[in-house]
Amino acid sequence: MITAGDPSVATIQLMHSGAGVGLAELTRDSLGTFFADEFLGGKRFANALSEPASGNRFLNPQQEALPGEGGWLLDGAKRFVSGSEIADYLLVNALVGDEPTFFGVPLPDASVSVIPIWDTLGLRATRSQLLAFNQTLLRASHRGRAPRPGDFVVIPAGLPAISLGIADAALAALAGHARTRIILGKPLSHQQWVQHAVADAQTRLAAAHALFQQALRQADGGDPAFFGNLARSKYLANKVAVEVAQLGVRIGGANGFLKASPIQRHLRDAEAGQLMAYSTGADAGSADAGGADAGGADADRRGSRR
Ligand SMILES: Cc1cc2nc3c(=O)[nH]c(=O)nc-3n(C[C@H](O)[C@H](O)[C@H](O)COP(=O)(O)OP(=O)(O)OC[C@H]3O[C@@H](n4cnc5c(N)ncnc54)[C@H](O)[C@@H]3O)c2cc1C
Repeated sequence: MITAGDPSVATIQLMHSGAGVGLAELTRDSLGTFFADEFLGGKRFANALSEPASGNRFLNPQQEALPGEGGWLLDGAKRFVSGSEIADYLLVNALVGDEPTFFGVPLPDASVSVIPIWDTLGLRATRSQLLAFNQTLLRASHRGRAPRPGDFVVIPAGLPAISLGIADAALAALAGHARTRIILGKPLSHQQWVQHAVADAQTRLAAAHALFQQALRQADGGDPAFFGNLARSKYLANKVAVEVAQLGVRIGGANGFLKASPIQRHLRDAEAGQLMAYSTGADAGSADAGGADAGGADADRRGSRR
């Protein structure tokens, strides 16, 4: 419901929840209670995991942190850090030795800065900024373990909902336009091609919702099949959202292209949903378990909170 209203707000909320719960869980044996209290007290968290070169393999960072006083020092960049400008803590990963290692980094930190290049097409209000790290101290006391199966998977449980909300909003927008746009003396919604296409889109969307609800029920019931079905739900919801948004552009015609129309925004937002890891191409690649990269993505997923 939040996403149908504003998917950027929902994305920031989701990334905040994933980073906050994840950090408390990964540091359970050390600062976990502290991070949990901070989270429950209203402090804001953001994921600084994706590197310019790591792409979908965001749980396998390539940037190495080197030993320094009190921990390790990181030089490099993390990108698409949704909600970073209002965050009190970042969940950051880096290589320590050869191991992907996760840390909580309190903000503000003078060594962490925003490189203001955020101008992508979709979900603009997430302000998913590029962050620069300049000898940032990753404190030994704030170090967590790696994610593992059985962790509470906030982000995989939320990503399908983002695309489903975008699709719901896109369907409502195109139906509203079709009902009010008069062509040859009748509302556009009276045209048979519109009725067929909308019924087809609505049916696919209902199926995507159903798969997502099934995965959530399986998660609540402790059925391990839930994790694969959440991944499938994200894939299906991403695809269906783009299909519905594209239908909106057909029905909206040139009016849908105007900035004042919600139709163009739904198309941009739907495309952004499928770029978020694991993006739809990477999902398909790992499903056939073919090449080395696919295996990597699959391994990421098994150990993943996202
Ligand atoms: C709106 C938005 C918000 C985001 N928020 C955050 C955030 O808060 N924190 C954060 O850390 N990151 C965030 N991200 C970043 C996200 O994690 C990355 O976009 C994601 O990891 C994909 O990386 P990439 O774009 O470099 O794609 P790449 O991995 O370079 O993929 C490029 C293309 O190759 C395909 N591909 C990749 N791997 C495979 C494979 N194994 N087999 C077949 N095809 C493959 C992909 O499908 C895609 O088509 C966000 C992204 C977006 C769009």
